[in-house]
Order: sequence, then structure tokens, then C-alpha cells
Amino acid sequence: MPAEYLRPLLIDNGTKIVLLLLDGLGGLPVQPGGPTELEHAATPNMDRLAAEGALGQTVPIRPGVTPGSGPAHLALFGYDPIEHVVGRGALEATGVGLEVRPGDVAARGNFCTLDAHGRITDRRAGRISTADAAPLVERLQTIAVPGVEFSVRHVREYRFAIVLRGDGLSDEIPDTDPQQTGLAPLAVAASQPRAEKAAACYQQWVDRARELLADEPKANGITLRGFGTDPVLPKFHDAYGLRAACVAVYPMYRGVSQLVGMDVIHFGGDTPKDEFAAAAAHLQDYDFFFIHIKKTDSKGEDGDFEGKAQVIEGVDQALPQLLELQPDVLLITGDHSTPARMKTHSWHPVPFLLWAPARALPDQQTRFGERFCALGGLGTFPAIETMPLALAHAGRLVKYGA
Ligand code: ZN
Repeated sequence: MPAEYLRPLLIDNGTKIVLLLLDGLGGLPVQPGGPTELEHAATPNMDRLAAEGALGQTVPIRPGVTPGSGPAHLALFGYDPIEHVVGRGALEATGVGLEVRPGDVAARGNFCTLDAHGRITDRRAGRISTADAAPLVERLQTIAVPGVEFSVRHVREYRFAIVLRGDGLSDEIPDTDPQQTGLAPLAVAASQPRAEKAAACYQQWVDRARELLADEPKANGITLRGFGTDPVLPKFHDAYGLRAACVAVYPMYRGVSQLVGMDVIHFGGDTPKDEFAAAAAHLQDYDFFFIHIKKTDSKGEDGDFEGKAQVIEGVDQALPQLLELQPDVLLITGDHSTPARMKTHSWHPVPFLLWAPARALPDQQTRFGERFCALGGLGTFPAIETMPLALAHAGRLVKYGA
């Protein structure tokens, strides 16, 4: 349960909190002494907020632990990611609109390409296009396994989500992707006896899928990853008394929001401006907006330092539109670091900006960047302490004790 001690302190004063999350925001210098992506980016709006507010840096999971995006988001939402383990399959399936109930077993599916001996030649089926993959997913939707129910939905390109429903299922099943070419997909195998039925059902489903895809030149195989169920997390509204909404382009982030009980706002477009407009359109309906920007992380994983800085600049340019909503608290941070230099997620602490004109104690930092945040007034703190800070700065917590 997120911060149980907060519950008696909560009041509803109508204030608005915005969590603007730039995925993988934290970075590293490419040259010794050089700037990080965030320090390199021209961010006059964020710098002004940094000067008026307070900076700090978060530790997503524990020091030295490199997080996936799922647990890193849970931490920001106040759920200890060591205590609450959520399979990525459950996040992705929920995010594309498949229902995942407690006891269901969800997974992420990848199309892959197999040679005549059944060995993988391309783990992503040549990144088959959405247009080519969607009809294949429709074919997979026809597979029936006696006694249980499968739901399948396309995500994008070579990826789909799948949910198994039935009695006596459990999700202790390792990935079937061997993580390299030249090997056959692994059998679906339970790592605990209680997951044997689910593994057997999934294996039957995979065998049938292989038959249905046998003649496909590009995508004649399947791998499954991230098996998981609904972790039955305490809901955001119960924990914090906030009506919360998610504005995100990518399914996984909608999924993690829905699992904690946020509503998902649907909108067209995929730019920061589109996302801020979506929040504006629902301003009266919610107290808390989680706005997710994905491309900082994507550019970091591509090793594109300039590209990541440009994504940050694009968010900064759109920021006045978000400020027009006059949030009482605006948090700008990331879920983890994705330094372009490393081309992957990392364990480094994450830049954190808190702007709350009525209540923030400003520090001496005047720019938003890793080294400014390391010297900021909020210090270095666990990401799961973000929500109490947000609530306090929104005036939503009364005094603890007499
Ligand atoms: Zn992430």
C-alpha cells in the first residue's frame, strides 16, 4: 500500500497536480566535462520554473538498480516496486484495452522469423509493419484451446498482447524468447508447479499459431515474454484522494496507469502540444494528471544525444500551454535515466523539478539539469516519496499528530 500513514492526513482542497514525465530523462556527458542531454538542451521555460521552484534527484528503485519503465513508474506513483511486481505483459495488455483480471495470465507476444529447422533468424520478423502484422493477429484470434479463453490484440509492428483466462492459472512462466538468433523459441514451461496448467495452455496456443503461420515468409513464429497477472494494486483514489488521469501515447504507460486506477484520456496526435491539449480538455474532471513523453527514452536508447536534447527542447517550447492550466503543483522528472552514451536504461539518479508557486521553498538553482538537481534543495530521495511531496505542496495534507 502506498504510504498508509498519509490516509488520515488527506484533504480535498480542489488543487491540481501535474506530473510531467519525460521517460528516461536522466543522461550523461558524452565528453568529460561536457553537458548531459538535459544540460545541453535549451530549456528557458524549465529553467524559469527551476529558479522559482526547487530541484532534487530521485532514486527510482534502490541505489545501483537499473529499472524497467514499469517498476520505475510504480515507484513514482508511490508503490514500492520491490513489493509490487507487475509483469510487463499485464501492463501492455491493459494498455491496448484487453481486460486483465486477477488470476488471468497476460503476456507480450512478438512475431519472429524461423528457418526450416525452426530456429530464429529474426527476433522481430524484420520489424514487420503494422499493416502486415494486423491480419496475422486476426488469424491468431481464431485459435481456441479447450477449457480456457484467449484474447489477443495487436499492439504495433511485430508486437501483440495476449491474455489467458481460466481456472487454476498462475503466471510463473519464463520468457520463451531465447534472446538470440540461431536458436528455436523456448517451450512454454512453468517455473512453479502451480503454473503448469497455464504453461500447457499457452504451449497449445503457440503450437496452433505455428501451424497458422507456417506459410508466412516473414513472420512464421512467435515468442512470448513478460508473463504476468493483475497485481491488484491499491487504487490511486483510495491512496491519495485524487481523481487521476493518464495522458500517454504508448499502451504500456496507459496500462500501468490503469492498474493503479487512473482513467486514460484518449486523444489524437502524439506531440507534447497534443498531450497538453488533452489534459486541458479534461481539466475540470481530474485533480491529478500524469503526462507521459516517450521519445526522450527512445532517443536515448538509439544513442542519439542531439535527438534526445531536441525532444526535451520540444517539450520546453510547449510548456507555456501547460502552465496556462495553472497547476498548483507541477513536477517535471523522468522514471529513470537513459543516457544516450549508454544506449540503455541506467541506475543513475533522475533530475526532479518541483514547481509550486504557493508553497515551494526555492533553492539556489536556476537551471534544470543533472548537476543543478544534484545540488538542489530537495536533495536525493527515493522516487516513492514523490507523491507525499506533491500532495503536501498542493496543500492536501493536514498536520500529523497534535
Ligand atoms: Zn522508462
